[in-house]
Amino acid sequence: MKLLIIITSAIALLVIGFATLPSSKIIESDTQGKVIHTSEHEIQQPGNYPVTKTEAEWKEILTSSQYRVLRKGGTEFPYTNEYYDNKEDGIYACAACGQKLYSSATKYKSGTGWPSFWEPLDKSFVQEKEDNSLFMKRIEIVCSNCGSHIGHVFDDGPEPTGLRYCMNSAALNFIAKSTSPTN
Ligand SMILES: [Zn+2]
Repeated sequence: MKLLIIITSAIALLVIGFATLPSSKIIESDTQGKVIHTSEHEIQQPGNYPVTKTEAEWKEILTSSQYRVLRKGGTEFPYTNEYYDNKEDGIYACAACGQKLYSSATKYKSGTGWPSFWEPLDKSFVQEKEDNSLFMKRIEIVCSNCGSHIGHVFDDGPEPTGLRYCMNSAALNFIAKSTSPTN
């Protein structure tokens, strides 16, 4: 009987222990396993950008992968994302609002597994923000039209800028040159 009480108490303690463990909010995958959810910071204050929507509205128009990257600052897994190896000519636009951000002319093979560019189409199309999540000091890139998270910029890129705009495919829509109305 004593043994039974001891065993029961031990099991109860274990259950309580697991139940009170902090759930990890740092890294989580979405249902398709394509996004590493790296941070939970708020991307923007409503009203600061020409295009503003409530999070409920964004959720409605974006896929879950797009939402986690664009609105929650998530990062895709390398090499399995859509555009890292895309060599077609065209324009990469913000998947949230459609603002054109990068040209294939400045895309290069960085070896990181993410689509990388050495320059945006225009500096004013992207906005830089300090990102101190994951115990790192990084420069976050958001779309200047809607404030959505696109990726990060690093200073180990090729000439002439020396910059590497490391972007998420889920944050971009590729418009091939042949189908682009501006070409
Ligand atoms: Zn945008």
